[in-house]
Amino acid sequence: MIQDDFRQQGLRARLVQELRRKGAGNERVWEAMQRVPRHLFLERSFGQFAYKDVAFPIGAGQTISQPSTVARQSALLSTREGQRILEVGTGSGYQSAVLAELGVELFSIERQSALYTSTRQLLQQLGYKSIKLFLGDGYEGLPQEAPFDGILVTAGAAALPQELLRQLKVGGLMVVPLGAKVQTMTRIRRLSETDFEQEAYGECAFVPMLGGIVRQ
Ligand code: SAM
Repeated sequence: MIQDDFRQQGLRARLVQELRRKGAGNERVWEAMQRVPRHLFLERSFGQFAYKDVAFPIGAGQTISQPSTVARQSALLSTREGQRILEVGTGSGYQSAVLAELGVELFSIERQSALYTSTRQLLQQLGYKSIKLFLGDGYEGLPQEAPFDGILVTAGAAALPQELLRQLKVGGLMVVPLGAKVQTMTRIRRLSETDFEQEAYGECAFVPMLGGIVRQ
């Protein structure tokens, strides 16, 4: 059952204040995060921790990202309403919901079938019609839906996923945690058919981006 009462809304407002103090995100992103009931994206037993700035297990050995990480990645992607965005690593669907609240048309890929199934059900229940979920290997992207205005990778990639670069529009941005062990939050801007610009935004720690699909 979907329940989002005053207490949870209040805790969410406090979390948003904390993100503001930390300088993680921007005004548009904080407003979007204020609208997403994060406690519904965690297992019920972790619900009490939903509005703390921490990551949590979501099953299949994966995690829901820390709110400050979601805020930073969403801000780096600099989306505008109506843009077509690809997310790699749907996980719990929380980041997907934040992007949907920012007004984009979202295509999101998950390689773990258990997460794909449970998250699809939750996002449907919550009424997120602008999110389309795919079970697949994010290294391949979604050629049938490309090109994208922006691409957000929410798992750590050892090297730049070349196929994803090909699916980015000229002028588009890709945000990806990059590196084998320690990762660097990286933003790539496609300048032309052949040229890309790369900027680094500090160290981060994500579960690894892995190839193939894992079926239940
Ligand atoms: N954005 C998610 C959220 O808000 O809950 C966090 C996701 S978790 C940090 C990273 C996710 O990426 C995991 O669910 C993992 O299964 C997925 N993943 C890793 N490699 C992938 C790939 N090649 N294609 C699609 N999903 C992948």
